[in-house]
Amino acid sequence: MSQAISVTRSMFDEVMVPNYNPANFIPVKGEGSRVWDQEGREYVDFAGGIAVNCLGHCHPAMVNALTEQGQKLWHLSNVLTNEPAIRLAKKLTDATFADRVYFANSGAEANEAALKLARRWALEVHGEHKQQIIAFHKGFHGRTFFTVTVGGQAAYSDGFGPKPGGIEHVEFNDLASLKAVMSEATCAVMIEPMQGEGGVVPGEKDFLKGVRELCDEHNALLIFDEVQTGFGRTGTLYAYEQSGVTPDILASAKALGGGFPIGAMLTTNEIAAHLKPGTHGSTYGGNPLACAVSEAVMDVVNTPEVLDGVKRREQMFRDAVMAINEKYDVFTEVRGQGLLLGAALNEKYAGKARDFLLASAEHGLMVLIAGANVVRFTPSLIIPEADIAEGMQRFEKAIAQVVEQHA
Ligand SMILES: *Cc1c(COP(=O)(O)O)cnc(C)c1O
Repeated sequence: MSQAISVTRSMFDEVMVPNYNPANFIPVKGEGSRVWDQEGREYVDFAGGIAVNCLGHCHPAMVNALTEQGQKLWHLSNVLTNEPAIRLAKKLTDATFADRVYFANSGAEANEAALKLARRWALEVHGEHKQQIIAFHKGFHGRTFFTVTVGGQAAYSDGFGPKPGGIEHVEFNDLASLKAVMSEATCAVMIEPMQGEGGVVPGEKDFLKGVRELCDEHNALLIFDEVQTGFGRTGTLYAYEQSGVTPDILASAKALGGGFPIGAMLTTNEIAAHLKPGTHGSTYGGNPLACAVSEAVMDVVNTPEVLDGVKRREQMFRDAVMAINEKYDVFTEVRGQGLLLGAALNEKYAGKARDFLLASAEHGLMVLIAGANVVRFTPSLIIPEADIAEGMQRFEKAIAQVVEQHA
């Protein structure tokens, strides 16, 4: 047995690298959309581990899959394959445009694989001139050096020395700015169909359609980063299904594992053929434990019951936030799709999203922000109605407090 150490939040600041600044309480237990901290304080969870806990905390289907697989086989490496990985890949390809799957452990790794595959494909099919990768300002694709450079926030990519080259950024939802830089040298366009970290900004339908057309015109691959929008979050298994646009490569993670680390890159037979044996890999990717859990998540999420429920819950969130806003006048709009929603602060509260997050925690509610001006909600896709109602009561108290402080 490991030696008992009594843990406090202040210990974090002693033993952890200071790249995070977590809340001042430490959760120790979760069930559904409720979480309890060390002091036994209870929270309603509208954050869902940043769009990860799509079935809430400790869903029985996931606990069963984990314990069952945990007693059979945890890890093999990719020198061998395993049944859960093949089953999950089969289900993912049956449910999407894709024919092939590559498993990783995170969103960044799924995107990294997508970018490396796009470069390989371009080199082998078109030649060395075709290297340019285009992405969008305020986009977010992860924290490896390639993905963070493709992401459109210099604050995250600067300060680490020379960056990978051949990457350009243009304006999201502005087709002309993309068109202006595209050419036969464009290898791929990487885009979130709805920007998550960048402020919960949906890609307009015409824009996404135009991006697809420009890619076709210039023989470039279209990569959808659905790490945040995917796996039921927007009310379909993937958001591309509602966009009227099919990507060539899709990255999935976050809700894919429901809380167990896993990522996946999905693509077609033709493109996948360029990742020949030895070209890319991961020790843990496709690990039986992760794939068994993900399969269990998918069996629950990819059903009309859950996906239609997302749309119903979206409306409850929108109605509740707008009702609160009638009283306090802090938001300009609630935007987003499904259960990836952002309440944008009005001018009076510009830059103060974190105040709302902190006040919410004080009142027993976990929410997220997306930049300094947006309060973000990414709850469990099956959050009970009663928890939405209770969470919104707490949110109202938090808002009343912030409004009073700023009066
Ligand atoms: C969270 C996120 C990532 C990064 O995923 P990690 O698992 O943290 O590596 C990439 N793209 C988008 C759109 C995300 O929201």
